[in-house]
This record gives sequence, C-alpha cells and structure tokens, in this order.
Amino acid sequence: MTFTPAQLETMRLIADTFAPGDGKDVPPASAVGAPELALELAAKNPREADRKVLQLLLDKWDTKALGFALTGKPRRFSTLGQREREDVLLSLSDSRIGAKRALFQALKGAALGPYYITGGAPVWKAMGYSGPLGVRTDAPPRPITPLTVNAETTLECDVVVVGSGAGGGTVAGVLAKAGLDVVVLETGEYHDESDFAGDEHMGFTRLYAAAPQATAEGQIMLVAGSGLGGGTVVNYTTSFRTPDHVRAEWAALGARQFAEQEYTDALDAVCARLGVNTDHDLTAPRDAILERGAKALGWNVAAMPRNVQGCDMGIECGRCGMGCRLGAKQSVTKTWLQDAYDEGARIYTGVRAMTVTQSNGRADGVAAVSADGHRVTVKARAVVAAAGAIQTPALLQRSGLGNANIGRYLRLHPATAIWGLMEERVDPWVGAMQSRYVNALTDLDGHGYGILYETAPLTPAFGSGFVNWRGGLDHLRRMGELGHMLGVAVILRDRDPGGTVKVDKTGEPVVRYKLSARDSDHLIQGFVGAAKIAEAAGAKRIQTTHHRDVSYEPGKRGSLETFEADIRRETVKPAKLALAALHIMGSVRMGGAATTSAVDPDGQTWDLEGLYVADASCFPTSSGVNPMISIESIAYMTAKRLAARLT
Ligand SMILES: Cc1cc2nc3c(=O)[nH]c(=O)nc-3n(C[C@H](O)[C@H](O)[C@H](O)COP(=O)(O)OP(=O)(O)OC[C@H]3O[C@@H](n4cnc5c(N)ncnc54)[C@H](O)[C@@H]3O)c2cc1C
Repeated sequence: MTFTPAQLETMRLIADTFAPGDGKDVPPASAVGAPELALELAAKNPREADRKVLQLLLDKWDTKALGFALTGKPRRFSTLGQREREDVLLSLSDSRIGAKRALFQALKGAALGPYYITGGAPVWKAMGYSGPLGVRTDAPPRPITPLTVNAETTLECDVVVVGSGAGGGTVAGVLAKAGLDVVVLETGEYHDESDFAGDEHMGFTRLYAAAPQATAEGQIMLVAGSGLGGGTVVNYTTSFRTPDHVRAEWAALGARQFAEQEYTDALDAVCARLGVNTDHDLTAPRDAILERGAKALGWNVAAMPRNVQGCDMGIECGRCGMGCRLGAKQSVTKTWLQDAYDEGARIYTGVRAMTVTQSNGRADGVAAVSADGHRVTVKARAVVAAAGAIQTPALLQRSGLGNANIGRYLRLHPATAIWGLMEERVDPWVGAMQSRYVNALTDLDGHGYGILYETAPLTPAFGSGFVNWRGGLDHLRRMGELGHMLGVAVILRDRDPGGTVKVDKTGEPVVRYKLSARDSDHLIQGFVGAAKIAEAAGAKRIQTTHHRDVSYEPGKRGSLETFEADIRRETVKPAKLALAALHIMGSVRMGGAATTSAVDPDGQTWDLEGLYVADASCFPTSSGVNPMISIESIAYMTAKRLAARLT
C-alpha cells in the first residue's frame, strides 16, 4: 500500500512544523526527504489497521473539522502560521487525554526520527555529529550464504527453527552440532560487515523490526532487531549472567533447573561461545562521567561484561547499534548460526512463518510465506518458535493454541533517561557502547525489583526520540546541545501484572502495557537517582524525557527536591514522557503448570507436543539485567534437552 500525493503533502506540513530548520543553513524536513522516509517506514508496517489509521489521519488532518476538534476553531492546519501550528501540536502534547498525547508522540517520532536521518551534514553539523561512517571497501566476504525462496517450496528436516535471533540462533547451533538436520526460517535479511555503514538510514530501514512500533496505549516505544541474528546484530553487547536472585525466582515458578547446575552450565557455555569479557572496558566520555558521578555518591560502579573481540571502543563502537563494521560483536550470526551453517543447517532468509502445523495432536511443521508471496511448507519432527517475545505469542495464537498464558505476563524493562548538560563534550555517538553500569538501586523493594543505570550510544535520530519538543527552533537548539549531553539510562525491572500480546483479526500482534503504580514509583525513584549521578558529575542542567519541561539547574534554579516534586506532579502516565523497551520478554513464560505458564520446563508448550519455545518469550519474569545471555542460556538448555530426545 502506498500513500497518496495528498497524504504525502500533509505529512510534509506536519514534519515541517516539527522541523522547520533555522531559516538559514539548516533546512526544513520537507527539503531533505524526511516526510518521504516517514511514509516509507510506515508502509513497512504489516498491520493493515495501523496503516489505515495513519491514512485516515492524513486525509483528515488538513480539514476544518479536524482543526475545530483540535483547536476549537474551524481552521485548516495549512492556513496557520508556524507558531500556530506548533501550538496545535503542543495542545496534543499537553492534553489531559492520553490518546491525544499518544498521537503527539507518534507524530513526533514519525517526523523527527526521519529528519535527523535524512538531514545530512547541515543538520548534523549543528550538533557536532560527523555523520555515518560508510560501507567498508575492505570488508571480508560474507561467511554465510543463506537460502532464499523463489517458488512454492516444501522442505523436510528434524527441527525447524522460527526466528534466528538470540534464542533461535543458539538453538540452531546446538541442534546442528548434535547432528540434527535443522532448517532456520528468518523473516528478515542477512547483513554483515560488508553492508554496515554506521548509518541510521540503513539501520532503521533494514535492521530493525518495522512493527509494532509502540504499545497500543502509546506509552512505550518497542525496539527490536530483525534480520539474520535478530537483536544480537544491533544490540549493545552488554552480557550479564542471570542474577542469582532472579534464578531463584524463576525456579520457584516451577522450572527448577534455573537454580541448578544445568543452568549454570548453560550460562558458562554461552559466555564461552560469545567470548564474554571485561577487557573491552575503555570508558566512552559518557561512561567516564557516569562513573565519576556514581563514585562521588559512593555508589557501586563496575566494568561491563561484553561479547566483543577486537572492538575499537571508539568511533566504530558508538555506531554499532547499526551493525558492527569490524565484525567484533559476537552476535549469534558470528557464533551459533555460523556453527549451524558449518554443520549443514539450511538457513532461509526472507521467509515468514505464519502458523505451526499439526497432525495427530503433535506439531509437525510450519506453514510460511516468502517475501514475494511464495508458499513454504516445512515438515519436521519438532518445531522451535524463537521469533521474539512479540512475534512468538502471535505465531502460537495464529496456530490456534488456547492456553490463556500465551501472550500474558509481557515484560518490557521500560527505559528512559535523564539528560545532564555538561561543560565538556560527551559526543554520545562515540566510544564503547556500554562499558560501565551502576547497580546501587536495583533492589528498591527488598524483592530485587528496581533500577539499573547504564549509558547508551546515541546517534541523532535515535537520540531525538528522548529530547522533548516545545517548538521547532527550540528542538533544533536542544539537539545542538546533544554533543554535550550525558544521557543516564534508567532501566526499570518491571513486575506483575505486565502486558499482553494478542493478535488482531488479521493475525498481527497488538501489544498492551501499562505501568503499575509500584513500577511507576520505582521509575520516579530512578529519575531522582540518575539526577543525583548527573549532579555529582557536574551537570549544569538536568532534565527528564517528559514532553513538558521537567528540569532544574543545580545551584541556580530549583533543586533535586523541586525536581522530584515536579516529576510526581507531571506523573509517568502514558505518553507523558519518552519510554522505550529494548528488552521484550516473558509473553510465553516457562513454569511448572499449565495454569500458571505457557511452556513446561523443557520449553515445550503445554498445548501441543513437539512445539517448543526458546527465546525471550519464555522468561518466567523479567531478568532485571540486559537479557541476551539469559535468552541464549535458556535456548541452549532447551536445545540440549531436545537434542537428547531426538537423537
Ligand atoms: C538496540 C538494542 C540494544 C540492545 N542491547 C542489548 C545488550 O547490550 N545486551 C542484552 O543483553 N540485550 C540487549 N538488547 C536486547 C536483546 O538483543 C534482545 O532481548 C534479544 O535479541 C531478543 O532475543 P529473541 O531471540 O527473543 O528475539 P530476537 O533477537 O528479536 O530475534 C527474533 C527474530 O525472529 C524473526 N522473526 C519474527 N517473526 C518471525 C516469523 N514469523 N518468521 C520468521 N522469523 C521471524 C525476527 O526478524 C528476528 O530476527 C538490545 C536490543 C536492542 C533492540
């Protein structure tokens, strides 16, 4: 489905209101192709209902009726001046109605993300960002040649693995090494050193999942990788083992092995295969400041374990969220999937699994479709679903599984940030992705739930999502400060009840999630703790990611106390602030009984024999730390058990 010229024209109006340029050197959004990119990204969303809502909005946006609904006056948006248009957008941003704020948040992301991608040198110069690195001309040849489907295809194998991310990649490697005949189906494409350019355009159009982009309430942006290797290709290489208290909590929910040697062995095997180490811990400026602030408070700060070999911890590493040009990141593509490939596994890209098929009460394969619409039928002795914690429950629901726990208990580690304006340059787009963490507030309730602090590499488009917008020029000025901004990421370990994933009538997943009162309070405590770090490190202005200005200037304007009071007054209700989920977990959880979980301790669904789940979906609760190592360890354990059954 493409958008009409009239819809594009309206998108231009909206985008130019968000990003009008400076009237001199910095061009407006419509002059750099940002509205076109916004609609190109929207068109990739496979959920028809979302695309239709956007089309309808664009059709109605420039009418007197909508003008009346938004401003109380029957005026068309296109007849207003820049200031009046900004007021319309701000009235959405500051509305008491959550749906209006969610609309503002969606429009802001759709306009500004593409603008800071396509803006090019004049826009980036204003913030001191030197731009993408470009494709390496001396990149090594691709070590994997995936298979593609060009006609109706039927395959047979021992195990078909759906999804090739942290979970699926690990399962494929372990099963293939055990001598099993494995087929991997991955809906995305294969990208390697020869493709990566440290470029947000390439990254956001080819390496990240197109949808769903946010929770249905508009509270939380959903960020997941897509392609061979899934999230492990774009992730930040932080490699925490599952903490002991989390293992005990998971074991208590019925999968006893989490507290036993079997899981310890799995963690050891995964860390060894990924070469996890703390030697690549050179601090980026943002981590050096984080460390300075935390140490001044007497808080524990430690070197980050990372799955890298030969990482530059410099300019390359800061752009590694768009793929590692050096091949230093030990993604599953570089490790477990390479093992699978070397053992003869057939790895298909551009193939989307639609349903799990069954006969005689057992899973017997997968019905899939290629990118250009060819039917793919795979017959297998066992099926492993590893499409990530949004797409796996969707696949199971599309396949008719009825267990009520499928799609429940979704956990997101909702994450936001504090901005601290520093005297020194921070250049958040350079340096080791994450080389320090602060765990002083990880247990706020005596049960191991709280806040983890890290920093994150921020390139302009991704960073713009967390910088509030109070007008076009003001936002440009704030983005100009990005090179001096310390972003302390505030990562919440979320607790019951969690969210849900449910397919709509076309089979596409819809994610619902609301922060509980307890988690909201932890998040606010997290903001305050992050502000303490920034203040102790010497920040001149400290600000949250709320759409309205919530900030103070130590020693000059306000204080930590007024700051906390302002946050509590503003609240953390849906679409009041920028929240993102990079850790999506728990929606098909593992446990001891069909009444409380969706898969048994072997990873097999309670509903259908022969169907296993081995990705972030099967976390019994949130991991409290970045989840990759836990996902791969569960996948390793499940694959070992499955291999023992099948061989
Ligand atoms: C930007 C970013 C940074 C992160 N940084 C870290 C970090 O530093 N440390 C850490 O521990 N974690 C990090 N994470 C999280 C971590 O990468 C993910 O939690 C992890 O990759 C999830 O693993 P998974 O196997 O559940 O799913 P994924 O890795 O998302 O893999 C699922 C795969 O399935 C494919 N797929 C989906 N549907 C289908 C279908 N129907 N048919 C076929 N294929 C399908 C998808 O395209 C995808 O490739 C980060 C995530 C992001 C997005």
